[in-house]
Amino acid sequence: MQRRIFARGWFVFLILAGLWSGCAPKRLAPLVAGEQPFVQGDELRAPTLLNVGLAQGRQNLLVSVNGPCLVLDSQSRKKLFRLEQQGGQLQFSRQGDFVVWLHGSVRGKQAGIVLQPVDPDYRLTHDDKDYRGDFLIIPSPKTNGLTLVNQVDMESYLKGVVPWEIGRHGQEELAALAAQAVAARTYTVSHLGSRKSLGFDVYASVMDQVYKGSRHEDPLCNQAIAETHGLVLKSNGRLVDAYYSACCGGSSSRVEKVWPRKGESYLVDHPDSPGSGKTAFCSESKYFHWVETWSGDRLEEILQETLPAYIDYMIQGDRPAWARPMFSPSGSGADPNQPGRLHDLEILAYTPSGRIAQLMISTEAGTYHVRGDRVRWVLVPPSGQPSILRSARFELEKVRRDGRLTKISARGGGYGHGIGLCQTGALEMARQGYSASKILLHYYPGSVLQRLEAQ
Ligand SMILES: [Zn+2]
Repeated sequence: MQRRIFARGWFVFLILAGLWSGCAPKRLAPLVAGEQPFVQGDELRAPTLLNVGLAQGRQNLLVSVNGPCLVLDSQSRKKLFRLEQQGGQLQFSRQGDFVVWLHGSVRGKQAGIVLQPVDPDYRLTHDDKDYRGDFLIIPSPKTNGLTLVNQVDMESYLKGVVPWEIGRHGQEELAALAAQAVAARTYTVSHLGSRKSLGFDVYASVMDQVYKGSRHEDPLCNQAIAETHGLVLKSNGRLVDAYYSACCGGSSSRVEKVWPRKGESYLVDHPDSPGSGKTAFCSESKYFHWVETWSGDRLEEILQETLPAYIDYMIQGDRPAWARPMFSPSGSGADPNQPGRLHDLEILAYTPSGRIAQLMISTEAGTYHVRGDRVRWVLVPPSGQPSILRSARFELEKVRRDGRLTKISARGGGYGHGIGLCQTGALEMARQGYSASKILLHYYPGSVLQRLEAQ
Protein backbone atom coordinates (compact mmCIF):
# COMPACT_ATOMS: atom_id res chain seq x y z
CA MET A 1 0.00 0.00 0.00
CA GLN A 2 2.77 2.37 0.94
CA ARG A 3 4.60 1.53 -2.24
CA ARG A 4 1.47 2.27 -4.33
CA ILE A 5 1.00 5.64 -2.67
CA PHE A 6 4.64 6.49 -3.23
CA ALA A 7 4.47 5.42 -6.88
CA ARG A 8 1.35 7.53 -7.44
CA GLY A 9 2.82 10.47 -5.61
CA TRP A 10 5.97 10.26 -7.69
CA PHE A 11 3.93 10.04 -10.91
CA VAL A 12 1.96 13.17 -10.04
CA PHE A 13 5.16 14.81 -8.91
CA LEU A 14 6.66 14.22 -12.36
CA ILE A 15 3.58 15.76 -13.99
CA LEU A 16 3.82 18.77 -11.68
CA ALA A 17 7.53 19.09 -12.34
CA GLY A 18 6.92 18.80 -16.07
CA LEU A 19 4.32 21.55 -16.01
CA TRP A 20 6.59 23.66 -13.86
CA SER A 21 9.62 23.27 -16.07
CA GLY A 22 7.86 25.33 -18.77
CA CYS A 23 7.95 28.37 -16.50
CA ALA A 24 11.07 27.73 -14.43
CA PRO A 25 14.33 29.52 -15.13
CA LYS A 26 16.77 27.19 -16.91
CA ARG A 27 19.35 27.66 -14.16
CA LEU A 28 17.44 25.22 -11.95
CA ALA A 29 17.19 21.79 -13.49
CA PRO A 30 13.65 20.53 -13.97
CA LEU A 31 12.70 17.78 -11.57
CA VAL A 32 12.54 14.83 -13.93
CA ALA A 33 13.61 11.21 -13.54
CA GLY A 34 17.28 10.50 -14.03
CA GLU A 35 18.41 14.09 -13.69
CA GLN A 36 20.01 15.73 -10.69
CA PRO A 37 17.19 17.91 -9.36
CA PHE A 38 19.36 20.22 -7.30
CA VAL A 39 21.73 22.99 -8.19
CA GLN A 40 25.17 21.93 -6.99
CA GLY A 41 26.12 23.40 -3.66
CA ASP A 42 22.55 24.49 -3.08
CA GLU A 43 20.98 21.38 -1.61
CA LEU A 44 18.02 21.75 0.65
CA ARG A 45 17.89 19.14 3.33
CA ALA A 46 14.63 18.03 4.84
CA PRO A 47 14.66 18.30 8.63
CA THR A 48 14.72 14.91 10.32
CA LEU A 49 12.24 16.04 12.91
CA LEU A 50 10.37 19.26 13.33
CA ASN A 51 9.84 20.66 16.84
CA VAL A 52 6.34 22.09 17.22
CA GLY A 53 5.58 24.06 20.39
CA LEU A 54 2.22 22.84 21.73
CA ALA A 55 2.27 24.52 25.16
CA GLN A 56 4.45 26.86 27.23
CA GLY A 57 4.50 27.91 30.87
CA ARG A 58 2.20 25.09 32.04
CA GLN A 59 2.36 24.29 35.75
CA ASN A 60 1.18 20.75 35.06
CA LEU A 61 0.94 18.64 31.94
CA LEU A 62 -1.11 15.50 31.46
CA VAL A 63 -0.32 13.16 28.57
CA SER A 64 -2.00 9.87 27.72
CA VAL A 65 -0.93 7.14 25.31
CA ASN A 66 -2.94 4.63 23.32
CA GLY A 67 -0.23 1.96 23.27
CA PRO A 68 3.09 1.04 24.89
CA CYS A 69 5.40 4.03 25.21
CA LEU A 70 8.98 4.65 26.37
CA VAL A 71 9.92 7.37 28.83
CA LEU A 72 13.43 8.57 27.93
CA ASP A 73 15.89 11.05 29.41
CA SER A 74 15.99 13.79 26.75
CA GLN A 75 19.74 14.30 27.02
CA SER A 76 21.17 10.78 27.34
CA ARG A 77 18.22 9.11 25.50
CA LYS A 78 18.43 6.48 28.24
CA LYS A 79 15.24 4.50 28.86
CA LEU A 80 13.75 5.35 32.26
CA PHE A 81 10.50 3.45 32.07
CA ARG A 82 8.25 1.53 29.69
CA LEU A 83 4.57 2.31 30.00
CA GLU A 84 2.63 -0.75 28.86
CA GLN A 85 -0.87 0.31 29.73
CA GLN A 86 -3.15 1.38 26.88
CA GLY A 87 -4.80 4.66 27.85
CA GLY A 88 -2.14 5.13 30.52
CA GLN A 89 -1.42 8.62 31.74
CA LEU A 90 1.72 10.50 32.71
CA GLN A 91 1.75 13.67 34.75
CA PHE A 92 4.48 16.28 34.59
CA SER A 93 5.36 19.24 36.78
CA ARG A 94 8.39 21.49 37.22
CA GLN A 95 10.79 21.55 40.14
CA GLY A 96 13.54 24.15 39.73
CA ASP A 97 15.28 23.39 36.45
CA PHE A 98 13.92 19.84 36.34
CA VAL A 99 10.89 18.04 35.00
CA VAL A 100 9.18 15.73 37.48
CA TRP A 101 7.26 12.88 35.86
CA LEU A 102 4.75 10.60 37.53
CA HIS A 103 2.86 7.45 36.55
CA GLY A 104 1.03 5.82 39.44
CA SER A 105 3.69 5.15 42.05
CA VAL A 106 6.56 5.46 39.52
CA ARG A 107 8.24 8.83 39.33
CA GLY A 108 11.48 10.51 38.35
CA LYS A 109 13.18 13.88 37.85
CA GLN A 110 15.16 14.81 34.77
CA ALA A 111 16.33 17.90 32.89
CA GLY A 112 13.96 16.88 30.11
CA ILE A 113 11.77 13.95 29.11
CA VAL A 114 11.01 12.34 25.76
CA LEU A 115 7.90 10.20 25.34
CA GLN A 116 8.29 7.81 22.45
CA PRO A 117 5.51 5.41 21.38
CA VAL A 118 6.91 1.92 20.74
CA ASP A 119 5.03 1.75 17.44
CA PRO A 120 4.81 4.90 15.25
CA ASP A 121 1.12 4.13 14.68
CA TYR A 122 0.38 4.85 18.35
CA ARG A 123 -0.61 8.35 19.30
CA LEU A 124 0.17 10.64 22.22
CA THR A 125 -2.76 12.69 23.51
CA HIS A 126 -2.68 16.09 25.16
CA ASP A 127 -5.55 18.59 25.66
CA ASP A 128 -7.94 16.32 23.78
CA LYS A 129 -5.78 16.22 20.65
CA ASP A 130 -3.83 13.24 19.28
CA TYR A 131 -0.34 13.58 17.87
CA ARG A 132 1.95 11.52 15.68
CA GLY A 133 5.63 11.35 16.65
CA ASP A 134 7.20 11.96 20.08
CA PHE A 135 6.74 14.50 22.87
CA LEU A 136 9.60 16.45 24.45
CA ILE A 137 8.87 18.01 27.84
CA ILE A 138 11.32 20.64 29.11
CA PRO A 139 11.31 23.49 31.65
CA SER A 140 10.08 26.57 29.77
CA PRO A 141 13.24 28.54 28.89
CA LYS A 142 11.75 32.02 29.39
CA THR A 143 9.06 31.51 31.98
CA ASN A 144 7.92 29.29 34.82
CA GLY A 145 6.31 25.97 34.10
CA LEU A 146 6.79 23.44 31.34
CA THR A 147 7.03 23.51 27.56
CA LEU A 148 5.54 20.67 25.53
CA VAL A 149 7.06 20.03 22.11
CA ASN A 150 5.81 17.60 19.47
CA GLN A 151 8.75 16.09 17.58
CA VAL A 152 7.26 15.01 14.30
CA ASP A 153 8.35 14.51 10.69
CA MET A 154 7.48 17.30 8.25
CA GLU A 155 4.91 15.41 6.17
CA SER A 156 2.99 14.20 9.26
CA TYR A 157 3.04 17.74 10.65
CA LEU A 158 1.51 19.08 7.43
CA LYS A 159 -1.40 16.63 7.78
CA GLY A 160 -2.30 18.44 10.99
CA VAL A 161 -1.88 21.90 9.38
CA VAL A 162 -3.34 21.98 5.85
CA PRO A 163 -7.03 21.21 6.72
CA TRP A 164 -6.99 23.89 9.43
CA GLU A 165 -5.33 26.50 7.27
CA ILE A 166 -7.36 26.15 4.04
CA GLY A 167 -10.34 24.04 5.19
CA ARG A 168 -11.86 20.83 3.89
CA HIS A 169 -12.83 20.79 0.24
CA GLY A 170 -13.76 18.51 -2.66
CA GLN A 171 -11.85 16.74 -5.41
CA GLU A 172 -12.23 19.71 -7.76
CA GLU A 173 -10.22 21.87 -5.35
CA LEU A 174 -7.39 19.35 -4.95
CA ALA A 175 -4.90 21.57 -6.86
CA ALA A 176 -5.47 24.36 -4.33
CA LEU A 177 -4.88 21.95 -1.45
CA ALA A 178 -1.62 20.87 -3.15
CA ALA A 179 -0.57 24.53 -3.57
CA GLN A 180 -1.40 25.14 0.10
CA ALA A 181 0.65 22.07 1.10
CA VAL A 182 3.69 23.42 -0.80
CA ALA A 183 3.23 26.90 0.71
CA ALA A 184 2.90 25.48 4.25
CA ARG A 185 5.92 23.20 3.78
CA THR A 186 8.01 26.09 2.43
CA TYR A 187 6.92 28.38 5.25
CA THR A 188 7.90 25.72 7.78
CA VAL A 189 11.34 24.98 6.32
CA SER A 190 12.13 28.69 6.01
CA HIS A 191 11.16 29.26 9.67
CA LEU A 192 13.15 26.39 11.16
CA GLY A 193 15.05 27.67 14.17
CA SER A 194 13.16 30.98 14.28
CA ARG A 195 11.78 30.13 17.77
CA LYS A 196 14.93 28.40 18.95
CA SER A 197 15.18 30.43 22.16
CA LEU A 198 11.77 29.01 23.18
CA GLY A 199 12.91 25.40 22.67
CA PHE A 200 11.07 24.63 19.41
CA ASP A 201 10.89 25.57 15.73
CA VAL A 202 7.31 26.74 15.20
CA TYR A 203 4.22 27.52 17.23
CA ALA A 204 1.16 25.30 16.71
CA SER A 205 -1.00 28.42 16.33
CA VAL A 206 -1.63 31.43 14.10
CA MET A 207 1.71 32.74 15.38
CA ASP A 208 3.05 30.36 12.73
CA GLN A 209 0.55 27.84 11.35
CA VAL A 210 -2.45 26.24 13.06
CA TYR A 211 -1.60 22.61 13.88
CA LYS A 212 -4.08 20.29 15.60
CA GLY A 213 -2.46 16.88 15.38
CA SER A 214 -3.81 13.74 13.78
CA ARG A 215 -7.39 13.24 15.01
CA HIS A 216 -9.15 15.27 12.32
CA GLU A 217 -6.94 14.75 9.31
CA ASP A 218 -8.63 15.10 5.93
CA PRO A 219 -8.15 12.40 3.25
CA LEU A 220 -7.95 14.91 0.37
CA CYS A 221 -5.51 17.14 2.24
CA ASN A 222 -3.41 14.05 2.98
CA GLN A 223 -3.51 13.21 -0.73
CA ALA A 224 -2.40 16.75 -1.64
CA ILE A 225 0.50 16.49 0.84
CA ALA A 226 1.54 13.06 -0.51
CA GLU A 227 1.39 14.21 -4.12
CA THR A 228 3.65 17.19 -3.40
CA HIS A 229 5.93 15.20 -1.07
CA GLY A 230 9.00 17.25 -0.17
CA LEU A 231 8.30 20.08 -2.65
CA VAL A 232 9.17 23.63 -1.63
CA LEU A 233 9.39 26.98 -3.45
CA LYS A 234 12.59 28.85 -4.10
CA SER A 235 13.42 32.18 -5.65
CA ASN A 236 16.90 33.48 -6.52
CA GLY A 237 18.39 30.43 -4.81
CA ARG A 238 16.63 31.04 -1.50
CA LEU A 239 13.52 29.58 0.06
CA VAL A 240 10.47 31.70 -0.56
CA ASP A 241 8.74 33.42 2.38
CA ALA A 242 5.53 31.60 1.52
CA TYR A 243 3.00 33.82 3.26
CA TYR A 244 -0.67 33.18 2.61
CA SER A 245 -3.97 34.61 3.82
CA ALA A 246 -7.69 33.87 3.53
CA CYS A 247 -8.75 36.48 0.95
CA CYS A 248 -6.74 39.27 -0.68
CA GLY A 249 -9.84 41.29 -1.61
CA GLY A 250 -8.82 41.44 -5.26
CA SER A 251 -5.14 42.34 -5.16
CA SER A 252 -2.13 40.99 -3.29
CA SER A 253 0.40 43.38 -1.78
CA ARG A 254 4.12 44.02 -1.71
CA VAL A 255 5.31 42.77 1.67
CA GLU A 256 7.32 45.88 2.58
CA LYS A 257 4.24 48.10 2.19
CA VAL A 258 2.36 46.08 4.80
CA TRP A 259 4.99 45.00 7.31
CA PRO A 260 8.18 46.72 8.43
CA ARG A 261 10.55 44.39 6.58
CA LYS A 262 12.45 44.22 3.33
CA GLY A 263 10.81 43.42 0.02
CA GLU A 264 10.95 40.20 -1.98
CA SER A 265 10.66 39.96 -5.77
CA TYR A 266 7.87 37.36 -5.52
CA LEU A 267 5.73 39.18 -2.90
CA VAL A 268 4.38 41.95 -5.09
CA ASP A 269 1.28 44.01 -5.84
CA HIS A 270 -0.75 42.23 -8.43
CA PRO A 271 -4.39 41.63 -9.26
CA ASP A 272 -5.79 38.27 -8.19
CA SER A 273 -7.37 37.68 -11.58
CA PRO A 274 -6.52 36.07 -14.93
CA GLY A 275 -5.86 39.52 -16.46
CA SER A 276 -6.50 43.22 -16.01
CA GLY A 277 -10.19 44.07 -15.87
CA LYS A 278 -11.16 40.43 -15.21
CA THR A 279 -13.16 39.28 -12.18
CA ALA A 280 -11.00 38.49 -9.15
CA PHE A 281 -10.59 34.78 -8.37
CA CYS A 282 -11.63 35.48 -4.77
CA SER A 283 -14.67 37.65 -5.64
CA GLU A 284 -17.17 35.05 -4.37
CA SER A 285 -15.58 35.01 -0.91
CA LYS A 286 -17.86 36.14 1.89
CA TYR A 287 -14.97 38.34 2.98
CA PHE A 288 -14.58 40.07 -0.41
CA HIS A 289 -16.62 43.00 0.95
CA TRP A 290 -17.20 43.87 4.59
CA VAL A 291 -18.29 46.85 6.71
CA GLU A 292 -17.54 47.68 10.34
CA THR A 293 -19.27 50.60 12.07
CA TRP A 294 -18.31 52.21 15.36
CA SER A 295 -20.06 54.90 17.33
CA GLY A 296 -17.68 57.75 18.17
CA ASP A 297 -17.78 56.78 21.85
CA ARG A 298 -17.06 53.09 21.16
CA LEU A 299 -14.10 53.85 18.91
CA GLU A 300 -12.74 56.31 21.45
CA GLU A 301 -13.00 53.60 24.11
CA ILE A 302 -11.20 51.04 21.92
CA LEU A 303 -8.41 53.48 21.04
CA GLN A 304 -7.58 54.03 24.73
CA GLU A 305 -6.16 50.48 24.67
CA THR A 306 -5.07 49.94 21.09
CA LEU A 307 -3.08 53.16 20.55
CA PRO A 308 -0.81 52.60 23.59
CA ALA A 309 -0.42 48.97 22.43
CA TYR A 310 0.64 50.24 18.99
CA ILE A 311 3.26 52.53 20.54
CA ASP A 312 4.49 49.57 22.60
CA TYR A 313 4.72 47.39 19.51
CA MET A 314 6.70 50.04 17.65
CA ILE A 315 9.11 50.62 20.52
CA GLN A 316 9.76 46.92 21.13
CA GLY A 317 12.07 45.38 18.58
CA ASP A 318 13.92 47.24 15.92
CA ARG A 319 11.25 48.64 13.60
CA PRO A 320 12.73 50.28 10.55
CA ALA A 321 12.57 53.98 9.78
CA TRP A 322 9.50 53.76 7.54
CA ALA A 323 7.43 53.37 10.66
CA ARG A 324 8.29 56.85 12.00
CA PRO A 325 6.89 59.23 13.15
CA MET A 326 4.63 57.42 15.59
CA PHE A 327 3.35 60.19 17.84
CA SER A 328 3.40 63.98 17.86
CA PRO A 329 2.28 65.38 21.24
CA SER A 330 -0.33 68.15 21.34
CA GLY A 331 1.62 69.95 24.04
CA SER A 332 4.21 69.49 26.74
CA GLY A 333 3.40 66.66 29.12
CA ALA A 334 1.11 64.87 26.64
CA ASP A 335 1.26 61.12 27.24
CA PRO A 336 0.90 58.76 24.22
CA ASN A 337 -0.32 56.06 26.61
CA GLN A 338 -3.35 58.17 27.48
CA PRO A 339 -4.94 59.17 24.17
CA GLY A 340 -8.04 60.85 25.69
CA ARG A 341 -10.83 62.29 23.52
CA LEU A 342 -10.90 61.29 19.86
CA HIS A 343 -10.80 64.31 17.56
CA ASP A 344 -10.40 62.85 14.09
CA LEU A 345 -8.97 60.07 11.98
CA GLU A 346 -7.84 60.32 8.39
CA ILE A 347 -6.21 58.03 5.85
CA LEU A 348 -3.10 59.88 4.66
CA ALA A 349 -1.83 57.32 2.13
CA TYR A 350 -2.75 54.07 0.44
CA THR A 351 -0.44 51.36 -0.93
CA PRO A 352 -0.67 50.58 -4.67
CA SER A 353 -2.80 47.51 -3.80
CA GLY A 354 -5.37 49.68 -2.01
CA ARG A 355 -4.32 49.01 1.57
CA ILE A 356 -3.71 51.62 4.23
CA ALA A 357 -0.14 52.89 4.13
CA GLN A 358 -0.66 55.52 6.84
CA LEU A 359 -3.59 56.40 9.07
CA MET A 360 -3.54 59.54 11.20
CA ILE A 361 -5.52 59.54 14.44
CA SER A 362 -5.81 62.82 16.36
CA THR A 363 -6.73 62.74 20.02
CA GLU A 364 -6.51 64.99 23.03
CA ALA A 365 -2.95 63.75 23.66
CA GLY A 366 -1.66 64.30 20.14
CA THR A 367 -1.42 62.78 16.68
CA TYR A 368 -0.69 59.11 16.08
CA HIS A 369 0.59 57.82 12.73
CA VAL A 370 -0.36 54.16 12.28
CA ARG A 371 1.37 52.30 9.46
CA GLY A 372 0.56 49.38 7.21
CA ASP A 373 -1.11 46.24 8.55
CA ARG A 374 -0.95 47.52 12.15
CA VAL A 375 -4.12 49.56 11.51
CA ARG A 376 -5.96 46.24 11.94
CA TRP A 377 -4.75 46.01 15.56
CA VAL A 378 -5.71 49.64 16.25
CA LEU A 379 -9.20 49.75 14.68
CA VAL A 380 -10.51 46.69 16.50
CA PRO A 381 -14.13 45.87 15.49
CA PRO A 382 -16.73 47.20 17.96
CA SER A 383 -17.87 43.67 18.90
CA GLY A 384 -14.30 42.43 19.38
CA GLN A 385 -15.05 39.76 16.76
CA PRO A 386 -12.84 39.13 14.92
CA SER A 387 -10.18 40.28 17.35
CA ILE A 388 -8.57 42.55 14.75
CA LEU A 389 -9.98 44.29 11.66
CA ARG A 390 -10.36 41.85 8.73
CA SER A 391 -7.92 43.67 6.46
CA ALA A 392 -6.06 46.94 5.92
CA ARG A 393 -7.87 47.40 2.59
CA PHE A 394 -10.66 49.84 3.41
CA GLU A 395 -12.10 53.33 3.12
CA LEU A 396 -13.48 55.41 5.98
CA GLU A 397 -16.80 57.23 6.22
CA LYS A 398 -17.33 59.67 9.09
CA VAL A 399 -20.41 61.35 10.52
CA ARG A 400 -20.07 64.43 12.77
CA ARG A 401 -22.53 66.19 15.00
CA ASP A 402 -21.65 69.49 16.64
CA GLY A 403 -18.03 68.95 15.63
CA ARG A 404 -17.82 65.54 17.33
CA LEU A 405 -17.35 62.24 15.48
CA THR A 406 -20.52 60.24 16.14
CA LYS A 407 -20.20 57.42 13.62
CA ILE A 408 -17.25 55.90 11.77
CA SER A 409 -17.57 53.15 9.16
CA ALA A 410 -14.82 51.18 7.45
CA ARG A 411 -15.85 49.65 4.10
CA GLY A 412 -13.27 47.09 3.17
CA GLY A 413 -12.35 43.96 1.29
CA GLY A 414 -10.46 40.78 2.02
CA TYR A 415 -9.44 38.89 5.14
CA GLY A 416 -5.84 38.74 6.30
CA HIS A 417 -2.63 40.51 5.34
CA GLY A 418 -3.03 39.90 1.59
CA ILE A 419 0.58 38.85 1.02
CA GLY A 420 1.38 35.81 -1.12
CA LEU A 421 -1.21 33.12 -1.73
CA CYS A 422 -4.91 34.05 -1.48
CA GLN A 423 -6.64 30.90 -0.25
CA THR A 424 -10.11 31.64 -1.60
CA GLY A 425 -8.56 32.70 -4.90
CA ALA A 426 -6.49 29.50 -5.05
CA LEU A 427 -9.63 27.39 -4.47
CA GLU A 428 -11.40 29.15 -7.34
CA MET A 429 -8.36 28.73 -9.61
CA ALA A 430 -8.46 24.99 -8.87
CA ARG A 431 -12.19 24.87 -9.73
CA GLN A 432 -11.38 26.62 -13.01
CA GLY A 433 -8.83 23.91 -13.84
CA TYR A 434 -5.52 25.55 -12.94
CA SER A 435 -2.84 23.11 -11.73
CA ALA A 436 -1.07 23.44 -8.37
CA SER A 437 2.09 24.71 -10.08
CA LYS A 438 0.13 27.38 -12.02
CA ILE A 439 -1.56 28.50 -8.79
CA LEU A 440 1.79 28.79 -7.01
CA LEU A 441 3.34 30.70 -9.89
CA HIS A 442 0.38 33.10 -9.89
CA TYR A 443 0.83 33.92 -6.20
CA TYR A 444 4.65 33.70 -5.98
CA PRO A 445 5.70 34.94 -9.43
CA GLY A 446 9.19 33.94 -10.56
CA SER A 447 9.54 31.17 -7.98
CA VAL A 448 10.48 27.56 -8.79
CA LEU A 449 9.61 24.23 -7.21
CA GLN A 450 12.35 22.18 -5.65
CA ARG A 451 12.30 18.93 -3.75
CA LEU A 452 13.85 18.64 -0.30
CA GLU A 453 16.54 16.02 -0.08
CA ALA A 454 15.92 13.45 2.66
CA GLN A 455 18.54 13.44 5.41
ZN1 LIG B 1 -7.68 37.01 -3.71
